Amino acid sequence: MKIYNTMSKKKEEFVPLEEGKVKMYVCGPTVYNLIHIGNARPMIVFDTVRRYFEYKGYDVNFVSNFTDVDDKIIKKANEEGVSADEISKRYIAECKKDMEGMNIEPATKNPLATEEIGGMIEMIKTLIDKGYAYEKNGTVYYRTRKFKDYGKLSHKNLDDLQSGGRTLLVTGEDEKEDPLDFVLWKPKKEGEPAWQSPWSEGRPGWHIECSEMSKKYLGEQIDIHAGGEDLIFPHHENEIAQSEAANGKEFAKYWMHNGFLNIDNRKMSKSLGNFFTVREISEKYDLQVLRFFMLSAHYRSPLNFSAELMEAAKSGLERIVTAAENLKFLLGNAGTDSLTEEEKENLEKAAAFTGSFEKAMEDDFNTADAIAAVFDLVKFINTTAGSDSSKGYLNALYAQMKKLTDVLGIIIERKEEILDADIEALIEERQAARKAKDFATADRIRDELLEKGIILEDTREGVKWKRA
Ligand code: AMP
Ligand code: ZN
Repeated sequence: MKIYNTMSKKKEEFVPLEEGKVKMYVCGPTVYNLIHIGNARPMIVFDTVRRYFEYKGYDVNFVSNFTDVDDKIIKKANEEGVSADEISKRYIAECKKDMEGMNIEPATKNPLATEEIGGMIEMIKTLIDKGYAYEKNGTVYYRTRKFKDYGKLSHKNLDDLQSGGRTLLVTGEDEKEDPLDFVLWKPKKEGEPAWQSPWSEGRPGWHIECSEMSKKYLGEQIDIHAGGEDLIFPHHENEIAQSEAANGKEFAKYWMHNGFLNIDNRKMSKSLGNFFTVREISEKYDLQVLRFFMLSAHYRSPLNFSAELMEAAKSGLERIVTAAENLKFLLGNAGTDSLTEEEKENLEKAAAFTGSFEKAMEDDFNTADAIAAVFDLVKFINTTAGSDSSKGYLNALYAQMKKLTDVLGIIIERKEEILDADIEALIEERQAARKAKDFATADRIRDELLEKGIILEDTREGVKWKRA
């Protein structure tokens, strides 16, 4: 299996650190808002990578954090007049709902930064002891130039570098020994969440979080570290500097980065206001369509989001689901179990589609070509399966299709249609719950309906609903 490694800028053969096991860390979102479809790209891509390893029989330990202490969370909390904890808890729950809709397998562990502060303090202490970090007036900085390999991932030259990006800026940064030094710990400002440390009451910098959580849940050396390409510098570069200086070992063997999602050929960003949340998309499409759309391009290529491409993904997915549905229908009426000679030969031919699927996935997870192989299988099913096919043949084709679509995280069983009467009954139940001030139940019913493609609208004339 070949993986493109950002570190070497080459496709490399995957060799696990430990036979049959994959230790994988994916940088997760900062939880201060509903996730947007750009955040969904690494989730879908690296979930598919994980699924392919599992398909190959690897035992995957998949760790992905939630950054739940950050300036943006604090700002949002202040705006709403609630605690930072309330904001992050709320958006972690919302994010998990979206992930479920996108059929992302739950991680082995989703560590929260706020629950790992003790470990981060220990790691910072080690860095100070080894001379890689220093304290000034309650702030601890990483001594960037001391780490000889700094810049090896982003292929940047130290002298050309300017510290920037998402380094946590604090007042009085002129106290740093070098402008390249970045923050490991910073003292609190009024009204900010803070923890005791040997240096000040304060909070950790963003980068140390991932170094510590990756070490705690996966060990000092891991197979794959992944995230969006905007994280290569400074975030991942700083993680390497911290982890390798503290542990004295190569941190990750393979560094994988997804390309960016654009909207109408422009960079999607919150500041430009041209972004969609996953939740907004879910009101118009089944999130399976979003997943299928994301996988229709190679993960390292930029991907443009547009209504036309989503419609194309929708009809492509529909072709697959219809073929599966048709097989189920034929199975309901099929007689004999035993395969004819011709059917046996056909299954041998069909095996070639699994072959091309695997070949595509082995080549740095080329999901676009893997999907093409699934479409070839669909075409083959549509031309060779019929009312006179045996049960054995139909079952084998169904199993083959399911095996491949499972790797992509695409569900081929059609969702059951919900009847109007059931919708009305659920709406009534929701109204009763609201009257009784049981908002948790009311929200649950609303979400349940949304999952089935039913959108509720509270109007002055009462509750109206429509199908997405
Ligand atoms: P953040 O919450 O900004 O730390 O982002 C969480 C993850 O989403 C990171 O891996 C980012 O690289 C990724 N990400 C953010 N925006 C985009 C985008 N427009 N396209 C692809 N990935 C993105
Ligand atoms: Zn990270």
